[in-house]
Parts: sequence; structure tokens; C-alpha cells
Amino acid sequence: MRPRLAAYNLFKPPCRLRLHHQCRLTEPEDTVDHSSNPYRDLPSVDRLLADPRVAALAVERGHNPVASLVREVLEAYRAAIASSAALPAPTVVEAVLARAETLRPSLQSVVNATGVIIHTNLGRAPLSRSAIEAVVRASAGYSNLEFDLDAGERGTRFSHLDVTLCRITGAEAGIAVNNNASALLLALAALCRDREVIISRGQLVEIGGGFRIPDVLRQSGATLVEVGTTNRTYVRDYAEAITERTAAILRVHSSNFRVVGFTEQPSLSGLASLARERGLLLLDDLGSGALLDTRAYGLAPEPLVQDSVRAGADVVLFSGDKLLGGPQAGIAVGRTEAIQAMRRHPLARAVRIDKASIAALTATLDHYAKGEAEREVPVWRMIALPLAPIETRAERWADAGGADATVEACESTVGGGSLPGESLPSAACVITPPSGTEAFAAALRAADPPVVARIHEGRVWLDPRTVHPSEDAHVEATLIRLLEASGHGR
Ligand SMILES: *Cc1c(COP(=O)(O)O)cnc(C)c1O
Repeated sequence: MRPRLAAYNLFKPPCRLRLHHQCRLTEPEDTVDHSSNPYRDLPSVDRLLADPRVAALAVERGHNPVASLVREVLEAYRAAIASSAALPAPTVVEAVLARAETLRPSLQSVVNATGVIIHTNLGRAPLSRSAIEAVVRASAGYSNLEFDLDAGERGTRFSHLDVTLCRITGAEAGIAVNNNASALLLALAALCRDREVIISRGQLVEIGGGFRIPDVLRQSGATLVEVGTTNRTYVRDYAEAITERTAAILRVHSSNFRVVGFTEQPSLSGLASLARERGLLLLDDLGSGALLDTRAYGLAPEPLVQDSVRAGADVVLFSGDKLLGGPQAGIAVGRTEAIQAMRRHPLARAVRIDKASIAALTATLDHYAKGEAEREVPVWRMIALPLAPIETRAERWADAGGADATVEACESTVGGGSLPGESLPSAACVITPPSGTEAFAAALRAADPPVVARIHEGRVWLDPRTVHPSEDAHVEATLIRLLEASGHGR
């Protein structure tokens, strides 16, 4: 490339010094021209692609993406030279390799060492082996997704879940959609549009990511009627708010916060009696919703889907990927007419569940039907993990961490908008990094696969509870590599 004279002439001496003495544009053997023209020092695209390390990258990531990256990097060098700015890296090859990261797929597997079991930022619930196999089967070829094999004609995708959902929860009918937020939107749109929905002021909550119950209600076309106070609401508050425009009473589980002290919320069966008496629907948004009793694991009770059905809710809504431990989905179970109205509503098409999720959800529900959920569903397996094997693993990790690591008691949490303030006693490998906490956590995240830890009290905590034992070797190797690199290893 011919130098642009204007830019060339504007070079300030310190920059030129940096270019030619401190920062080699190319490897020494690469350098062809030692004239003072820095543009001419830049290697060609072909020359860079022939470099063994860049060539290896092209084998791994494909020739065209790597060639584009090489051109981008060269462009960055030209821009830096033109503006007398600092160069991206001492050599162009190093700059290309440093940006090879951008060629990795954006969505990657990570090791979750945070001790938060249902971590929304890390993809919530990992699937069971048979759920994964079901996804592969359903996705690899064709299926009877919407095809009735007996009749040889069009069927419905909802048929695959209905029976299992009813068997497990005791409900008359069920439907699964994209997620619980859309299940709630669909229920309100199909059952309460242009009418009023009564809700306690203590339940007008924000779930997370800006998902607020009053906003969802508005979007559905229903009108919100608030009753009671933040801390206390009685059945009579609901009763007094009923008009001829009322369609339903909505109860929303306080998933991610706890109100303590002088509080009162009516029981679901109390609300069910009122709704029945006055000809209204009772909708129960459980959020997480559990099918197993969390009290068996030393945790506070999380409402059971079966209990809500039994108490008389007309529609019970819950997530597929919170305590259920399945794929992202929203599930509604309840009375046949209400579920039918949801299936028929035009929004049902907009929020429908895909075949891979139906497959994973069916396999996950099967674990509950067979009574093997605690053993097979990863979320429940992690909740049920006893302390001793966690301590043993934390100790092995700490051995790998050497002088900078210790084992300490800590608390794992269930997360995912369930059991706020509750925790499971656990053990962590705790690193006091010589390089600084933030830098060390960043180095862990830069590993392949990335390791995500928790920063607490100025140290880095790694909780084995949420790490699959097959990932232990990677965690240990990463600790050895990072702490030896800093000169503080064992
Ligand atoms: C989490 C939650 C939702 C949203 O569920 P998604 O499956 O994340 O869409 C709705 N309501 C409550 C009470 C929740 O806790």
C-alpha cells in the first residue's frame, strides 16, 4: 500500500520511535523493509495467512472468517499509524491471535462455580441426560410434532404434554408455551381481556429483567384492580373489590423477595372459595413452582404445583427451567375450559413452544412421573448433594490452587427467583489472588471453557456444588495454570 503522505508527514518522533524500536510490526524474520515508512512494514494478508499460528487458526475457524479478521487487524494498524495512536499489539500476528476470541461462537458453555444452582445469567437449569437425548432425537429428524399418527392427519403439538402434566399435577388439562411470562400474558389475554383482575398490593412485583406484573396485565388488555396493602391483604379486601366487570383474582408468588413481620396474605383455598362463590376465575402464578417438596432438603417451603391445583386454582402457571429443572418453557395447568381458551387464543401461536423444548420437557416430566427426579434432574441432584463430597472436591481444588487457596464453609443458593434468603450449607475453594481479585476472576472467565466464580469479601470463591464432577479436572488445571503463571503456585 502506498503511504498517504499527509499522515506520514504528520508523524511525531516519539511515535516513530515506538513503532520501530519498541513495537515490532512483524516478527524479525518477517521484516522486509526497514525504511522509515511504517505502512510498508505491514505484512500482506497472504503473508499473515501463511504464518503457522494463523494457518492453524484458519483450520479451526475456517479460512474466510480468519482472512476477514486479518484484514480488520491490518486496517486497525493503518488507522493507528495514520492517527499516530498506539498499535494494537507488537506484531500483527499477535494482534490477530488476540482477536481470535471474536471468532468463537458467542454462546459458549461455561463452568458455573458460583454456587447459585438456577442462575438466570448462566442459562438456568441444565438438562438431564435423557432430556438432552430427547432434544437430539426431536431435532435431528422429523417427528409427529403436529401429526396424528393414528388418524394420519393434522394433530396438535399440545397433545404431547397434556397427559403427563395432568398425571403429575392432578389438573384436568395443561399447555406449555415459550416461558412463564408468556404463559401469564396468554392466560390474562384469553381469560380476562377488557375486564378487571384483582390483585393484592403485596404481589405487584417485578420478577427481574424489568418484568413487572402490572405491565403484563396492561399488555394483556385486562384492567388491574389493586387491593389491600403491601404487607396485609385479606379475603374481604378481594370480596369488596368485585364488580360485574371482574374476570379473575390473580395471585402472584413472591418469588424473589420476602416480607417479614406484620404480614397477612389469604390462603389459596380461601381465595378459591370466594372465586367459586362469585363466579370468578382464580389464576395462580407460582413463578418457579415445585413438584418436589423443598422442605425435605432443609429449605423453606416453595409452593407445590399439586397443592395449588388441589386448593382450587383454575389456572396454575410456572416456569419450565426454574425448580422444574427442564428447558425454558411456561406451563399452565388447570380446568379444561380455561386451558382450551388459552390454546384457541391467537397469542398462543405467537408464544408457542418449539419441538426441542417439548421433547426436553416431556423427558423432564417423566423423571417426576417415575419418582426419579432427585436422582436424574440436575437441579434437584445439586440441591440434594451432601456436604462431604463437596468438601472433598473443594480440598482437591485448593490443592491445585496451592499457597493462595484455602477451603472454607460457604452457602449455595437455589436462585432463579425461588427461595429468597434460603441457602444450602456448602464448601468453597477460596482464592486470595496475588494478581488482585478482579483480575483473577477475569482470568478464570478467559479460560476455555470459562470458569465463573463468585467474588465475596475481596476474595474469589469457587463452590463445587454447581460444577459437574466431569468439569473438576478443568477447574484444577486452570487454577494450576493461573497461579503458577503468577509465581505463587504450589
Ligand atoms: C420467574 C417468574 C416469572 C417469569 O417466568 P419465566 O419463565 O422466566 O418467563 C413469572 N412470574 C413469577 C412469579 C416468576 O417468579
